[in-house]
Formats: sequence, C-alpha cells, structure tokens
Amino acid sequence: MSAPALPQTPQPQTLHVVGAGLAGLAAATAAARAGVRVRLYEAAGHAGGRCRSFRDDKLDRVIDNGSHLVLGANRTALAYARATGGLEAMRPVAPRFPFHDLASGERWEVSPTRIPAGPGEILRALGLPWTRREASVAERLGSRRGFVRLWKPLCEAILNTAPEEASARMFAWTMRRALLGGAPALSPWLFPHGLSAALVAPALATLASYGAEIQFRRRLTGIECGRLLFEDGPEVLGEADRVVLALPPWAVAPILPGWIPPLPTRTIVNAHFRLEAAVALPGGAPFLGLVNGFGHWLFPRGDVLSVTVSAAEPLVDRPADAVAAVLWGEIARVLGRDPAAIPPVRVIKERRATLAHDPATLPRRPGPETPLAGVMLAGDWLRSPWPCTIEAAISSGLDAARWALGRPALVFGP
Ligand SMILES: Cc1cc2nc3c(=O)[nH]c(=O)nc-3n(C[C@H](O)[C@H](O)[C@H](O)COP(=O)(O)OP(=O)(O)OC[C@H]3O[C@@H](n4cnc5c(N)ncnc54)[C@H](O)[C@@H]3O)c2cc1C
Repeated sequence: MSAPALPQTPQPQTLHVVGAGLAGLAAATAAARAGVRVRLYEAAGHAGGRCRSFRDDKLDRVIDNGSHLVLGANRTALAYARATGGLEAMRPVAPRFPFHDLASGERWEVSPTRIPAGPGEILRALGLPWTRREASVAERLGSRRGFVRLWKPLCEAILNTAPEEASARMFAWTMRRALLGGAPALSPWLFPHGLSAALVAPALATLASYGAEIQFRRRLTGIECGRLLFEDGPEVLGEADRVVLALPPWAVAPILPGWIPPLPTRTIVNAHFRLEAAVALPGGAPFLGLVNGFGHWLFPRGDVLSVTVSAAEPLVDRPADAVAAVLWGEIARVLGRDPAAIPPVRVIKERRATLAHDPATLPRRPGPETPLAGVMLAGDWLRSPWPCTIEAAISSGLDAARWALGRPALVFGP
C-alpha cells in the first residue's frame, strides 16, 4: 500500500471500525490485541460479510454463502487465523488439484510436479517475458496447450473474471506467489466446519476477550464534524480517535461522495445440494475442479455437496431452480446419479462477490487514504497486488490498524 501520513498521536483513544467483514475483523483484532480500545459497528445482524456461514432452514444445515479456499501463499490470512485460534477449524490438504472434463469424462490431477503445460507457457503465465498492462489472460495463454485444463480454471477461481477480460499481469503475480513458493505455498487450506468457525467466530471471541465493543445492526450513513452518523443516531469521536471504514466500495461511495470511482463487480454463484447421505468425490478428493461446463468446483461437506461457479454472469439472471437443474445435471454426470432427481438445494447468487479484475478496473482502485483526517479505508477492493480475496481483505485490515496506531510493524499476535 502507499504509505499514508502517520497521525501525530501515537496512541489513539478509540479505534472505530465500521464493517465486520474480514477486513474490519482483522483491523479490530490487531488493534485490540495491541491494547487499543476498539468499537466495531456492523450494519447486518452478523459478522463475516461476504465470507460467512449460516443455518439454512430449507436444508436444515449450516452452509457457507459460498465455498472458499485459501492457499499457503496467503500468509497474512493464516497469521490472522492462527492468532485468533481459528486455524484449528481449518484443514491443510496436499497440493493436488483433481479435475474432471464434463465434455470428455477425462480426469487428471495438477500438482507441483505435474503441471499440464509446457515450460514456455508456464513462463508466460508467470509474466515472462514482459506482460503488457492491457493484456488479458486469454490473449497471453488462450492458444496454449494448458489453457482449458489449467490456466482458464485458475484464472476464473482466483480472479473471478473470464480470461478474455482478466488482467494477465495480476494473474501472473498470483501465479508467482503460488507456483514459485513450492508445495507449502500451493497447499490449499479448507474450512471443514464452515467459514465462520474459522474466520469469524474466533475473531469475535478474541475481540470480546480483549474488551472490544461490537455493535450489530448499525448502518453508517455519513461522517461529519467529528461524528459518525448511523441510521439510529450519531457517535461522537474523541480528538485522538481514529476511524477505519472497512466497507465495500458501494457502501463507501455515499459516505465519501466523489471519492470512489466506478468499480465494476463480478458474480459468484453457489448451489448447495443436501444429499441423502455423506457424499464422497471420486478418489476421496477433498474438492474437484470441473471444466467444459457451468460448474467450476465441487466441495463436499458431510451430506452437503456444494458447487461453485465463478465469473457467473451467464447464470446469474436465470431463476434459482433453473440454475440448480443445470448444475445438478453436471454433478450427476460426475457422480453417476440421476440428473432428474434434484436433491433439496439452496442457490446463493453473490452478485458483487469481487471486483472485475480487468486491466481497466484495477488501476482505478483507490488506496486506503480518504479526504477526512483520521479516517482510513480497508477492504479487499483497495489497491494491492492481490485480487479481491480473504488475503487482500485481512492484509488491508492489518494495514489500517498499523496506520491508526502509528505502528508499522504491528502483527496479529505474538
Ligand atoms: C461466493 C464467494 C466466494 C469467494 N471465494 C473466495 C475464495 O475461495 N478465496 C478467497 O480468498 N476469497 C474468496 N472470496 C472473496 C472474499 O470473501 C472477500 O474478498 C472478503 O470476504 C471481503 O472482505 P471485506 O471485509 O473486504 O468485505 P465485506 O465482506 O464486504 O465486509 C464489509 C462489511 O461491511 C458491512 N457494511 C456494509 N455497509 C455498511 C454500512 N453502511 N455500515 C456498517 N456496516 C456496513 C457489510 O455488512 C459487511 O459485513 C469469495 C467471495 C464470495 C462472495
């Protein structure tokens, strides 16, 4: 991040964090553990934002808004989970990515020693030789042997943007972090008990144990003259107080008029099917990548099988039962089930899951500074080498706490 001017006061009286998504939870956690008084405000009745679990009445199960995965290369996210105790609810698995081709039925596996691409295209994916700023992933890799089996699914999963429009430069940066870090960097970490058990509930418990005040159902509508204006009344800021707005761009825009440029977003659709018994994927794999269909990744958890569709604009306007039918048809092919016997299902469309990671949008992302003294932004969408991910959100929250406390070396815990 570009270094904003550090405040004069080394120890603010209270850090006010607005937004209890992962960026806000990270800022609040780092500050509270450093001994700072923290107040966290959240518009919804729960924390977690775009990364959360909830009990679904139709399925009678706890499900996530969408299946998430982090890699070993996401070091700040793992440090946050370690510091709050959430890491215990995460499971590292071997860096093996099984795939199934829905068109041909072929199966293969990608691992650090088995990459279905030639050396030349791996160098291109890593950004060598030099990549033009405007280049898309498809322009760079679309004609290469590994495009359908490797680069396209990785691009959709990591950038949530179709390869025809996704930034080749950002893709190359993420590939360098993942592929050049060896097996530990490529190892996926899963959420077998759900996202909240690992990334949300432990942070809330940590905050409570450090005496932080957490207020739900408080929607910020403006900031003026040393006051945070919430729908239900103002909060007066002390002179030494600092504010972190850990909000998505569409929530910041009305609060800081004219400050946030247009930032197009992309959709992720998840369908969660409740089967009659615990489900296993072929070979007992913890997840399965799909190509040549609508569905992209299958994640089993007990008797719930979830399918994720990234860059899901082609599906998003279809009715939920039509989406479920298409996706179950694909699952039925993989698992040898009856495509007509669609199990109970919940379809979740996150229309603003991430920014569009394209060469026109990325340079427009603002940094963390705002025109208001003592007020800073945090969130996955701010300027960063990372795409909108858990890692980007948590890193930006930590950066905001560092700024607020005037402690550039602050970490989540000992
Ligand atoms: C379906 C899906 C799948 C994903 N998969 C992955 C993955 O596999 N790996 C990965 O790394 N990332 C993934 N991501 C991205 C990841 O979830 C996000 O990058 C991250 O959760 C963003 O956190 P945040 O705190 O920046 O924003 P948010 O989660 O949007 O948090 C903002 C918070 O502010 C609150 N708020 C909004 N307006 C106001 C207001 N006016 N006043 C007070 N509070 C307000 C919101 O309710 C919310 O709680 C996925 C996202 C989705 C949606």
